[in-house]
Amino acid sequence: MESRELPVDGWHKVVHFTDEKTGLNAIISVHDATLGPACGGCRIFPYENFEAALEDVKNLSRGMTFKNALGGIPFGGGKAVIIADAKKDKTPELLRSFGEAVASLDGLYYTAEDSGVTEADMQTIRSVTKYAAGIDAGGVGGNPSPFTSRGVWRGVQAAARHKLGAQSLKGVRVAILGVGAVGMELGRLIHEEGGELVVADVNQAAVDEACDRFGATAVAPEDAIAADVDVFAPCALGGSINKDSIDRLKAKIVAGAANNQLKTRDMDQNLFDRGVLYAPDYVINAAGVISVGLEILGTWTEDGLSKRIDKIDDTLTNIFKRADEDKRPTGAIADVMALEAIARGKEAA
Ligand code: NAD
Repeated sequence: MESRELPVDGWHKVVHFTDEKTGLNAIISVHDATLGPACGGCRIFPYENFEAALEDVKNLSRGMTFKNALGGIPFGGGKAVIIADAKKDKTPELLRSFGEAVASLDGLYYTAEDSGVTEADMQTIRSVTKYAAGIDAGGVGGNPSPFTSRGVWRGVQAAARHKLGAQSLKGVRVAILGVGAVGMELGRLIHEEGGELVVADVNQAAVDEACDRFGATAVAPEDAIAADVDVFAPCALGGSINKDSIDRLKAKIVAGAANNQLKTRDMDQNLFDRGVLYAPDYVINAAGVISVGLEILGTWTEDGLSKRIDKIDDTLTNIFKRADEDKRPTGAIADVMALEAIARGKEAA
């Protein structure tokens, strides 16, 4: 395997790994390691080119720094991408060679599941490195997606309470863009609480399932943002709030699981100016990595995790209140609070 460190200003360590024998072409990006070793998932995606992969892993790893800090776990921000098509190129050899790449960083980075990587894949990666998590060990830890869904559900509740005065999601209308691992379970939780669902996905089978199980109404993916609902919940890929789509947004709340929901940073201010309450993505979707963090620390319990997930509601409510008081957008407030948490961690070290 070949490895090459890439000089990236403002990032702790970014390394490109290639292995001709296994086809590995991966980047591990550690944005910050102030609070502890970096922790964040590994994404397998057929990026158009190396630059696109580098841009994605940089942004995602930076997001993890903020997510872990506000999630209250002693980890820095990191992420990995493997440039490949998970449906065609994923082999045990490829996964093991990625595991060797992780191992070569000697504990600077812990990996876990992200798009294109399953719990079974993580087990394969774990066979060559102990720095792999998100693996169920007799009811402890495991695949983070269901926990992420639960945290997002608590976040939607917090946003609906703050913006609509709704004490529950009964009768609250939510459009979920992307009913995959996180979005489908989110749909179940909202449906069981009496919420009304609109769903969209490029995968028709997933749309059909959500309509059958939750009585959801289906719309085309490009129309989800324009659905006449209270909450728009982006749960597919990033960038769904952008300069071309924002004028079509009808919901008064944006609260979903996707990372990097705002395509550009100015969308934060833009949403604020329109009176739309945005639940910052890395706050609302942190439950999965919180579970992974507790698993790595060896302190995972169902009760302990539930309490942490409930805290997402408190953290978001604080952000919403501070945004109202300071008349500043919620994303900017979350960044300030995350930087405060990192500074406190630095002082305590
Ligand atoms: P997933 O791959 O299981 O689900 C994504 C869904 O979005 C799929 O059903 C896919 O068909 C659909 N989709 C993809 N492109 C689309 C498009 N252009 N239009 C409509 N639908 C589209 O992934 P997931 O694990 O559910 O994660 C969803 C999002 O949440 C991702 O952005 C991920 O980074 C983020 N996230 C996930 C976790 C987790 O624990 N899984 C944690 C934090 C953040």
